[in-house]
Amino acid sequence: MIIQCRKNISESQIDRLAATCEGVVVNYDSNVFVVTPSALKAVDAQFDSIIDTSWVMDSDIQLSSRKFKSDTRKINIGKCTTGGNQTLLTIGPCGVESEEMIEQTAKLIVGSGLSTIRAGAFKPRTSPYSFQGMGEEGLKLLARMREKYGLSVVTEVRDSTHVQMVLEYADVVQIGAKAMYDHGILRACGRSQKPILIKRGFGTTLQEFVQAAEFVLSGGNPNVLLCERGIRTFETKSRFTLDLCGVAYLKEYTNLPVILDPSHAMGYAYGVSDLARACMAMNVDGLLIEVHPDPSVAKSDAAQQLNHDTFGKLFESLKPIAAAVGRTIV
Ligand code: PEP
Ligand code: MN
Repeated sequence: MIIQCRKNISESQIDRLAATCEGVVVNYDSNVFVVTPSALKAVDAQFDSIIDTSWVMDSDIQLSSRKFKSDTRKINIGKCTTGGNQTLLTIGPCGVESEEMIEQTAKLIVGSGLSTIRAGAFKPRTSPYSFQGMGEEGLKLLARMREKYGLSVVTEVRDSTHVQMVLEYADVVQIGAKAMYDHGILRACGRSQKPILIKRGFGTTLQEFVQAAEFVLSGGNPNVLLCERGIRTFETKSRFTLDLCGVAYLKEYTNLPVILDPSHAMGYAYGVSDLARACMAMNVDGLLIEVHPDPSVAKSDAAQQLNHDTFGKLFESLKPIAAAVGRTIV
């Protein structure tokens, strides 16, 4: 149950309500809420005088639910505002590898009229012997691209040891598929007001995915974006399976902007452009596509990254699809 408290109620009254309902006090959108387990369906009448509005919820998809907030949340990311008729197209390499390659990427983005650069400085690799990212040096290079080219920076946090550092450098903090369950990261991101892009774990149900987002929301940060990037199925010919049915669910039942990442789902560059067009046709709030100046030498996710030429052609082909669904790409 979500309970919105009346204005000018004392902290002790709110705490008493929260303790009685076993709820969490959440400062959210300039109001104070008490969010209880969804199993609770009514509050004792003694609290009537301090309650403004309340919502009875079916599950612990609560603050992210359309039942609570019926329109998609507007989140400002540089020149883009999600939740309206803009689609954020965030591109860049899997990881920052050098100043030269990240600058080539920044120039491609600016030349395309786009507004964000994405690249990881902390890479959550499956093997400890693979490239782990440039760490803070990579974050500094991304910050330089922001200063030089006016781009907003989307970059990921791998674990809770460097979450504060990433929060300082990033305009959007990405929580990757493998980090999605890390409550240290989720709670730290909940204490910030920075936009947080959470990727769905590849073995995660939609319920678990959205509940991960609830950890950030219930910390008081409403600026969460959900990213579908493929789940693991019995199929082995593609790296993962992009769950477009899941995207339809997220759009219907949650109030958070939805981003689609065809690159990590497909795992091979040959399928990414077709998938990206299908994603655009789903009228989503964002697309995340991995692009590298020379994918053949990429230190991570080499097989799936598009070169600049292929990206240019894809971008042109996305524009009429965006227009057909009433969107502009930023
Ligand atoms: C990435 O975006 O480069 C990445 C590591 O993605 P995921 O967490 O979805 O695997
Ligand atoms: Mn990657």
